[in-house]
Amino acid sequence: MLKVVNLTKRFGGLVAVNGVDFDVEQGEVVGLLGPNGSGKSTVMNLISGALPRTLGEIDFDGQRIDGKPPHRIAKLGLSRTFQLVRLTPSLKIRDNVILPLAFGAFPVFGSEAVKRADAALEQVGLAGRGDGPVQDLNYIDQKRLELARAIVTNPKMLLLDEWMAGLNPTELRTAMDLIAGLRDSGMTILLVEHIMEAVRALCPRCIVMSAGTKIADGPTETVLADADVIEAYLGK
Ligand code: ADP
Ligand code: MG
Repeated sequence: MLKVVNLTKRFGGLVAVNGVDFDVEQGEVVGLLGPNGSGKSTVMNLISGALPRTLGEIDFDGQRIDGKPPHRIAKLGLSRTFQLVRLTPSLKIRDNVILPLAFGAFPVFGSEAVKRADAALEQVGLAGRGDGPVQDLNYIDQKRLELARAIVTNPKMLLLDEWMAGLNPTELRTAMDLIAGLRDSGMTILLVEHIMEAVRALCPRCIVMSAGTKIADGPTETVLADADVIEAYLGK
């Protein structure tokens, strides 16, 4: 589904992502881990086209996507959430979900858009909330809305960047159940996440980055027991 080869991103003198290679197969849920500043969000931004790469190749669902603008990549079926919640507070809840739909692979408007948006809201546990203002949503519900926006276009793959950060234990359980539901429906997911409980429960396989480089890739329990991975997290 996704193939990344020699992916490299420089910001001036800083090499934020340095020759990273990995594949994600259709239907896999893969964790992307690493200490703060290791390059995880930059990888997400390069895959989704939010940032231009310096070097490397990215293929998604049989097509080369590096160099394409974000909306073209989204149209191919790659959807994402951002590390910081990005909702449009001036629009009501449903219209936040319609927004990506109007720019989706097959633009949808009018009553069909309302129907699709309400189905996505229902899927994330916000049934009947579409007419309310975004300001009414508590933190977990904002997270639900973000997820609804990401799935309303029926993507083939989701990139989730610390989507579960800041949730309390009860909310975390809810969030994990939502992702497990997507996984069980066959969604391919690349999950940047610091919460190990969530990684262990949702990701059979993990990739670990440190200082821009991939340092481990394999079964989650093996990777988390790896000496280089432990050292990267402890900061030597
Ligand atoms: P992570 O998501 O793993 O915490 P990031 O990908 O956000 O790490 O950042 C990797 C490195 O790249 C950090 O040193 C960060 O300061 C730097 N960086 C990220 N985005 C930019 C940018 N737009 N301009 C300059 N440096 C950046
Ligand atoms: Mg990040």
